[in-house]
Amino acid sequence: MTDGTTGSRGNGTSASVRRADATGPVRPATDRKVPSLCPYCGVGCQVTYHVVEGRIRQVTGRWGASNHGRLCVKGRFGFDYVHNRQRLTVPLIRREGAPKDANTLVDPADPWGTFREATWEEALDVAAAGLRRIRDAHGGGALAGFGSAKGSNEEAYLFQKLVRTVFGTNNVDHCTRLCHASSVAALMECLGSAAVSNPVADVQFADCIVIIGANPTVNHPVAATFMKNAIERGTKLILMDPRRTELARLATHSLQFRPGTDVALLNSMLHVIIEEGLTDDAFIATRTTGFDDLRRTVKAYSPEAMAAITGIPAEEVRAAARLYATSRNSMLFWGMGISQHVHGTDNARCLIALALITGQIGRRGTGLHPLRGQNNVQGASDVGLIPMVYPDYQSVEDPAVRAKFEALWGRPGLDPKKGLTVVEIMNAAREGAIRGMYIMGENPAMSDPDVQHVREALASLEWLVMQEIFLTETASFADVILPASAFAEKYGTYTNTDRRVQLGRPVLPPPGDARQDLWIIQELARRLGADWSYDGPAQVFEEMRRAMPSYAGITWERLEREHAVTYPCRREGDPGDEVVFVDRFPTPDGRGKLIPADWAEPGDPPDDDFPYVLITGRLLEHWHTGAITRRAEVLDALEPAPMLSMGRELAAELGVSAGDVVTVESRRGRVRAIVRVDDSIPRGAVFLPFCFVEAPANALTSPKLDPFGKIPEFKYSAVRLVPGGLPVETASYRAGAVLEGAAD
Ligand code: SF4
Repeated sequence: MTDGTTGSRGNGTSASVRRADATGPVRPATDRKVPSLCPYCGVGCQVTYHVVEGRIRQVTGRWGASNHGRLCVKGRFGFDYVHNRQRLTVPLIRREGAPKDANTLVDPADPWGTFREATWEEALDVAAAGLRRIRDAHGGGALAGFGSAKGSNEEAYLFQKLVRTVFGTNNVDHCTRLCHASSVAALMECLGSAAVSNPVADVQFADCIVIIGANPTVNHPVAATFMKNAIERGTKLILMDPRRTELARLATHSLQFRPGTDVALLNSMLHVIIEEGLTDDAFIATRTTGFDDLRRTVKAYSPEAMAAITGIPAEEVRAAARLYATSRNSMLFWGMGISQHVHGTDNARCLIALALITGQIGRRGTGLHPLRGQNNVQGASDVGLIPMVYPDYQSVEDPAVRAKFEALWGRPGLDPKKGLTVVEIMNAAREGAIRGMYIMGENPAMSDPDVQHVREALASLEWLVMQEIFLTETASFADVILPASAFAEKYGTYTNTDRRVQLGRPVLPPPGDARQDLWIIQELARRLGADWSYDGPAQVFEEMRRAMPSYAGITWERLEREHAVTYPCRREGDPGDEVVFVDRFPTPDGRGKLIPADWAEPGDPPDDDFPYVLITGRLLEHWHTGAITRRAEVLDALEPAPMLSMGRELAAELGVSAGDVVTVESRRGRVRAIVRVDDSIPRGAVFLPFCFVEAPANALTSPKLDPFGKIPEFKYSAVRLVPGGLPVETASYRAGAVLEGAAD
């Protein structure tokens, strides 16, 4: 981690441009510097792109409220994927008769046996014709769209508008379903809003921080630096995670509980707080409902009774509960270790209850912060890229809301039913109910649980239109591929985990004949009957402001001037509320709802055949399915191969050492990976990142869903481990054979 403003190690240094000194090469002068954003995580760091001779040569941190000039390794070194020789630069159409085979992915360096080049005119006409054929024959419900949390708010807004007004269905979703859908479900149910209550930087006002099911030093590295700064100044940390992550060494209490026992642990903390009279009774009386039900439920969850389930000694739980409840300001962070479970919504309900019964919300340094993953997953959700709500979380089932959007969009008769979610859409595709899809920048053939079934579903689609920058695993199954723009090639707004709407600016033009995503969405919409003529993102943003009361006060001019504005910002000139829920919650009665939850077993428990628990997640160096970071030279060099992490006890039990190959099998599939010995992994568990196509972790994961958030249980699958197997060959992204020379 370096601070871009201080000239510390790494500042001014990139993979390809080094400091001028007596022996090193002279750094060429920067032609242009463009202020913009990091494209990776929800922290939303402000950066400056340095362009030399038409190429990005360096990225440095720029001061912004989200990062104070700091960047992590991805922000600093992960930029060169935009120049990767496998970028799609021309539209592609599937060759007649080219088979779609769930077991055979198209080589992104040599797709010419499957695809041929096309002009934009032909590709757009053919793409639209396939979608129209299905819509007209089977109705809009036979179509679905996956938008992208990596794209801008304007792109996500137009994408969901296309699906709703042109396809005629609410079958539109994106990867929020795979990260925080359960958190959103619980927050909406309990507080009437899915937004974080306080920004990350509020840790400076907190006396106690709780981090549960999150690994910020890996997944939100710059946010982690603010947490470390606060701890240095005396803030206490309670860390709760099955893995002993890096922050554990700074924690006052580190509770390394057994995977899948979150509800039991959190209920035992609620039990202690109520039993020991540590509640904020005035807050409970005036700002909540449901306390008696909660008290009754958690009565059975004493830490002493739960110790056998969670593995945490009762006194540790009691001490942590006391610290959280009695600190002047306590702040709660959570990540996908909480949300990606079949009981993810219950986990989040318990966390919300902790804040409500102690009154630790509505002030600086308190509150609830589910750390958002993608750079724009907050914004994509805000602008309605989800199947149950229009922009600003307005229900598609509410007739008055629907009438408002019918008037705004000039499209009577919008679909009155909630649409299907990500995994439901894939299931429906396998059953033949979904026949055609439009996917922009998502990679379900890697990111969704039980990917073999997902690939079968994609292969069975009658029609798939992909909008992408690389020929991803999902694009293997496309009928038409439309080459799109990367983050650094476009203008738009992005909303970070703090609810901060920030401006991304174009650094370079898209390569070859790749086009702006906004243009592509509009061209498809026009061919399907829409009368759209937006002249750019600012005009789309103006329409969004009319659709979204919480963004209504933010103007494009202000974003140009100030780079970032926090919402809610209801009227022009409002500063934007960094802390929400100060006086009331946005529920019908203004109160927060306490919803009790009982602990239940995970959905895919171990047994004699599959005795170990697989936890999946990210690496510091790679992003999500690896589509872009594996094409970033420095990042892929740092983590080039699929590593299976396990503690030394398990390695000894299996008779393997670091570097050996192990086959991992679940009830759904098997992969081979290389052993990494890592004592942060709990006994009986292994960790596999999901960014490696050579060993797709989601070949192993279970498609069982949380019943409320409809999120899969990526954090808990039963597996067995078989030492040995063929060597693991890594995909040669860095060799990156040039995508050119198409022959027809
Ligand atoms: Fe980019 Fe996130 Fe790292 Fe910031 S913390 S540089 S936004 S990946």
